[in-house]
Formats: sequence, C-alpha cells, structure tokens
Amino acid sequence: MTAIKDALSETVDGLGNELEALSHRIHANPELGYQELKASAWLSEFLQAKGLKVERGVAGVETAFRATLETGEGPTIAILCEYDALPGIGHACGHNIIATSGAGAGAALAAVKDRLPKGRIQVVGTPAEEGGGGKIRLIQGGVFNEVDCAIMIHGFDRHLLHQDLLGIVRVTFDFTGKAAHASADPWEGINALDAVIQTFNAISMLRQQVRPDARIHGIITNGGSAPNIIPEATSAVFYVRAASLDYMWEIYRRVVACAEGAARATGAELRVTQGEMVYEPLKRNQTLLDLFKANLERLGVKEEEPIPDRLGSSDIGNVSQVIPAIQPLIKVAPTGTAIHSRAFAGAAVTPLARQGLLVAAKAMAMTTADLLASPAVVRQAKDEFATAR
Ligand SMILES: [Zn+2]
Ligand SMILES: [Zn+2]
Repeated sequence: MTAIKDALSETVDGLGNELEALSHRIHANPELGYQELKASAWLSEFLQAKGLKVERGVAGVETAFRATLETGEGPTIAILCEYDALPGIGHACGHNIIATSGAGAGAALAAVKDRLPKGRIQVVGTPAEEGGGGKIRLIQGGVFNEVDCAIMIHGFDRHLLHQDLLGIVRVTFDFTGKAAHASADPWEGINALDAVIQTFNAISMLRQQVRPDARIHGIITNGGSAPNIIPEATSAVFYVRAASLDYMWEIYRRVVACAEGAARATGAELRVTQGEMVYEPLKRNQTLLDLFKANLERLGVKEEEPIPDRLGSSDIGNVSQVIPAIQPLIKVAPTGTAIHSRAFAGAAVTPLARQGLLVAAKAMAMTTADLLASPAVVRQAKDEFATAR
C-alpha cells in the first residue's frame, strides 16, 4: 500500500497544473445550481480522458455525472464533486476546488489502476448543493444504492476532519388580507403585513427558548405594494435549522404555529408551503475519518482547532444518513476567511487553494485505496453507521 500511495501522490503532483487550470476555468465561469453545463462537461471530459467510464445526466439530472473505474469484485467507493456557484458572488463557497480535487483523485486512481485492490470507484458529480438539493435527487434516483462509502471535501479556512452540519427545512408563509385605503377607510381592511410582522415578533420570542445550535432566520419577500393601501397579500420565507432531525421538526412546528397565531390575530388567511428539499444533519463516521486523518498526516497535514458555533447545512448530510459518508474541511483560504464571502471567492484561486486542492485529491485517493484494500474496514464503517444516532 505504501508504494501505491506514493504513486497516487506523485500522479496528483504531475496533474497539478492541469487540475489548477480546470479549477480556475470553473471559477471564472460560475454557474448556478442545475445550470452547471460547462463545469459538468469539463469534468466529464477530464475524467473520460483519464480512462474512467463516464455517464452524463444520471438520475435524470442533466448536470449530474458518474465516472466509474472498475478493477473487479469488491467495495464501491464514491468520491463526490460539487461545482455550483452562488448568485452574485460566484465561487464564494469554493466548489471549484471540491470539483477538481474529486476529479484529481479519480484520475490518480485510474493511473495506478493495475496495482489497485479489487473494487469500484465512482466519481459522482452532484449539482446544486446551494439550496437545490442535487444529492437528494441523486439519492432518490438510486445513485447511492450500490455505494458502500462516500467521501468528499470542502474548502475552508483551516483543516478540520469533521464539522457538524445542521438539518434545514425551508418554509414560505403567504398571508392574504383585504385591501383598503390606509387613510380614508383603514377599518375596512385586513392587514396582511401585520400578520408577517406578528410572525417575526412571535419567532423572535420563540428564539429565546430554543437550543443554542438551532437557527431560525427569515426575510420578507413581499411586504405590500404602497403605504396608502392596507397590504392584501404578503409573504415571508424562513429557514429552520437544528442539529437533529427530531428537534428541527419540533422547532418547525412551533415556527408554523407563530404564523398561524399571527393569522388568527390579524384575521388574514395563511398558506404554509414547506420547502421540498430538506437537508439532513451530517452523521459522523469515525472509521472513515480515522482513515482520512492518517492519510492527511502522511501528507504532513495536521488537524486544527475546531470552531464550535460556525454551523451550516449541506445535502452531504442526506447522503450521510443513507450510507457512511465524510466531508473533511481542507484549508484553501487564510485563517479567518468566512465562506460565502467575496474574500473566500478570491482565495479559491490562490496558490494556497492549489495546495489545498492537491492535498485533498491525494488524501481522497489514498483513503479510497485503503477502503478497496480492506473490505473489513468498509464493514466496520457500515456497522458504525448502522448503530450511530
Ligand atoms: Zn456554500
Ligand atoms: Zn459549499
């Protein structure tokens, strides 16, 4: 295994310029979720050229792909790529690095194919992480049915093996009132904006009584049309997040009750629309994390201090609820640079990002090789998954 790992590392270094160029090309052409036509095509072409068998549009999702490398009967390990960007601020989540490190790992494994233990490697292109729930559609489409374990990385301002992710459910409240002249005969109206404001006030009060890892945050998407009209139609969107699904649904019910109370108090009608894509919390898998950690250490990378309160959400959480999956965070930006900021978008194409990209590709390739070599460890990861909360 030492010789194979050395070969994987050398291959990734040899691909360094090509991977960095691909990363920069994706970064310079940011595409929103489910519109990642260029990125998915470039990644597919790259993987095909390196000898993987590529299927485009898997699970009926146009910008998803699966690139397979097969060496015989054995475990199936998936390496996941994301490549969607954010509206307005482009690749401020650094998905260009996730994409190219995953592709780099696949290419390196293909280069040592003859020496690899038996099994199947799938580099899976998963669109629309930023709210679109691409991985949920791939789960529903059966893409992970035959996969034993999944690995992906995310760029960050430090190296961390595991960071909790919160479950998230989105909800839209539409209130319908009755329009009236706001000065001449306001008593004829039913104020749908009052219902929105009451909802915000009630949720603000609720917030004191929720656990510290829960998050409730909303915006008003329609607040009326003119100050001289009692608003007849208003809308607000809220995100509800928590570390466990049970607690997320409990808070969700209480948030909906706040809107119902506001409707009752103002006389407005309420329509509640629950968002389709519910992101689930990340289920930790120590077996996979230990393998990844050993490979990072082999590459001279040490884990840094965690940040307990910086909590986001991702659809990798949903994958981790159906099979063992990990998402280590790899340093690609100076310490203190927050994701979803313009500074992070800038950092995602620096020499530090290249360093992170190559470390990530090597560690994912090595961890995949470890898993192919040891079906017993794959079983251990699955046993841990079955018994974990
Ligand atoms: Zn993001
Ligand atoms: Zn991201």
